[in-house]
Amino acid sequence: MGVEPGPLRLIGQVVALLANYCWVELDQLGPTGLSRLLCTRRTRLGKSGQTIAVGDRVWVDGIDWPAGRAAVAALEPRQSLLERPAVANVALVVVVVALAEPELDLLQLTRFLLTAEATGRPVQLVFSKADLVSPDEVASWCQRAAAWGYDALAVSTSSGEGMEPLLQRLAQPGIAVLCGPSGVGKSSVLNRLCPELGLRVAAVSGRLQRGRHTTRHVELFAMPSKPAAADALALFPVAAALVADTPGFNRPELPSDPVVLAQAFPEIRQRLALGLCRFRNCRHLGDLGCAMGTDWPRFSLYRQCLEEVEAIASVPSRVATTTRRRTSRRQTSQGLSRPGREDSDPDHP
Ligand code: GDP
Ligand code: ZN
Repeated sequence: MGVEPGPLRLIGQVVALLANYCWVELDQLGPTGLSRLLCTRRTRLGKSGQTIAVGDRVWVDGIDWPAGRAAVAALEPRQSLLERPAVANVALVVVVVALAEPELDLLQLTRFLLTAEATGRPVQLVFSKADLVSPDEVASWCQRAAAWGYDALAVSTSSGEGMEPLLQRLAQPGIAVLCGPSGVGKSSVLNRLCPELGLRVAAVSGRLQRGRHTTRHVELFAMPSKPAAADALALFPVAAALVADTPGFNRPELPSDPVVLAQAFPEIRQRLALGLCRFRNCRHLGDLGCAMGTDWPRFSLYRQCLEEVEAIASVPSRVATTTRRRTSRRQTSQGLSRPGREDSDPDHP
């Protein structure tokens, strides 16, 4: 524990960010039965360079119970961080891609999986819109995913297929984040699991058959848990799920370090656990002495990602700096400042 509770301090979890405020769900109810406070930040947090992310455990003080307002005074150390969108203390990252409408893009899926892997937390792959393809096709995608190292779930909000197993996967303690391209059905999935959320769902529209953006924010929602655990819903931390679909987030950044990139492929992790490559700085492109070889399903995707990472790394100063600056600016904008302000999306004019 980083901070001792003072007499008027209470601990809670950031469940949503607004421009200069955040909503904090307290672990315990206040005297008026209130558990959610609209909080400002103390400048101290800003000066020490700490930005708040949804999912952060924070201490609040200066509580005005009648007004439901308070201030965030301190931040607990994070257990994990999903970088973009910024979500702290993630227990499970659920990557959702549709089997059709929009058409599954393997490189895009891989980028989402790599971002998810970067948290170091378990990753659940979900194939949505299973109703739009044949059962054989569903089975074949699940087999492909198994070869990559993922035990995928196929779901459909239309037929209800796979919803119960997904609910079980989400109804674990801690925060589960749903991320994935726009229009794949993340909001629909959460609505089906938890109808009272009433998240807005977009009609798939336009040439590209991509969904229009509906979820423009990152917010924590309590998930329904099994009846026996229903009481737990009143408390935090509870099983919570999160829609993490933000405009312009259809092409996640790759890790900047080739070693980190390789480790984010379960295939490479698993293979290297059995035996190492001959050279320590192996690029795992199947050269002499490489334990990976080239005969694995995502080899060409890995090579493509590695080439991009190396190309960025090899560009001296100016471009690399620009890229870094762009990245950090994006991360900042996902921090406390205005997550809902990124209204323009190159993919969705
Ligand atoms: P999000 O952007 O990922 O949150 O996607 P939405 O939940 O807004 O859904 C985008 C579109 O896909 C909407 O038109 C939904 O009605 C549609 N959709 C969602 N789930 C399914 C599904 O399981 N099957 C089919 N056929 N369409 C779906
Ligand atoms: Zn190798």
